[in-house]
Amino acid sequence: MKTCPCGNDRKSHDITETPDYSGWSIFLISMGISAKPIKVDFTCKKCNKTFDTITGEEAKHWVT
Ligand SMILES: [Zn+2]
Repeated sequence: MKTCPCGNDRKSHDITETPDYSGWSIFLISMGISAKPIKVDFTCKKCNKTFDTITGEEAKHWVT
């Protein structure tokens, strides 16, 4: 598993998960329907580095 320079990984509480949705998914979400992100960025709250990104199948199975 990838980590940022200060040692946080995807399971850390000091990170921000930023899902990236396609245009259609944004529409669904605005209607109150849940949609799957096409990409999720993992950013450390301490050093502000995006240390990991998931896409495709992995992003579809991503849960908050
Ligand atoms: Zn960090």
